Amino acid sequence: MTLAICIFCGAEKSRAFTPCNECQRVPTTILDGAKSLMLSDQNFPPEGLREFSRTIKSGMDVPYDFVTLAICAEPVAELHYYGKNVTDVGRLPCMHCGTEFTPQDEQVFCSGCRSEIEREFRVCLNCPMIYEDGTRFCQKCGAALSPRDVVKAKAISQDIAFSVRQFYRKQSAINQSNFLGPIHRELSPEKRATAEAELEKVAFYSAVLTLQKLTSSNTTVFAIIAGALEIYRQSFLLQGATPIVAGEVVKRYLKRFTEYDGAFARARSELPNSSERWILFVAGDAVESCYGIVKRDLGTTTDMVIFIGYFVKMLTETTASRLRRHHSTAKSAGN
Ligand SMILES: [Zn+2]
Ligand SMILES: [Zn+2]
Ligand SMILES: [Zn+2]
Repeated sequence: MTLAICIFCGAEKSRAFTPCNECQRVPTTILDGAKSLMLSDQNFPPEGLREFSRTIKSGMDVPYDFVTLAICAEPVAELHYYGKNVTDVGRLPCMHCGTEFTPQDEQVFCSGCRSEIEREFRVCLNCPMIYEDGTRFCQKCGAALSPRDVVKAKAISQDIAFSVRQFYRKQSAINQSNFLGPIHRELSPEKRATAEAELEKVAFYSAVLTLQKLTSSNTTVFAIIAGALEIYRQSFLLQGATPIVAGEVVKRYLKRFTEYDGAFARARSELPNSSERWILFVAGDAVESCYGIVKRDLGTTTDMVIFIGYFVKMLTETTASRLRRHHSTAKSAGN
């Protein structure tokens, strides 16, 4: 790291956590630490950072995205946890399960939890496909997979959470659509906020659909999605939600995913020979959960199909390119 922006006054500094030369302040809380890491060249090119600098200097708020902050906050939270909980004799309760252990290198997870948290998947980059670690051949193209063809499960989960949020923020598919667009625009601010929260769940469910194309194992899909939802949970906590409330929001996500899975299964039993039309069932349910429209009609359903299709396409492309990038980083780190 060579360039970072002071989140308090906007001055440039060389590292996220060094005291600012202008205002002398240092980030001390987890949230400020995450913001400081976000406004560093780990995340943005210099010209992007200078834009943030100008924003802060002019007294305006930086539009922090809380999902990105949750990803940035992870190492900061671990450092805080270590500093706060390590005993005089060097013992620490595991940050995940609470079991006491003797950490090495400021490690915060016990060995049992670490194997789950540091889980890796094997990938075939020709296809691309994701497999359980230990798989020796790609089941799609037959290529041999070496023990070095691995990507960290956590990295895939972070990419999924980050991409869902970024695409969700940028998309305007619903607003521009013929049937749902006018309905969406005429909602009261309150109802629109509810619809948007539901739409983000639909967008997130598109990640489930994307991963189902990239792996044949439901366990793998579940592990990656659980990791991505954990990042969303952390983002609610960073926004000030209590652990109970943050947990409830995640439960609502899972409830919808189960409903959409149900629609998927219904489509399979009613249309056994149509591989593509299942999406109409999922989209119909999504229109109902976002807008309360129970009567199924082709217009609104098609608009939702386009919305879901957009996410699946974008997520498939970025996940494939990010797998390649993580894979090459893992390889060069191993050399
Ligand atoms: Zn400063
Ligand atoms: Zn543990
Ligand atoms: Zn393959």
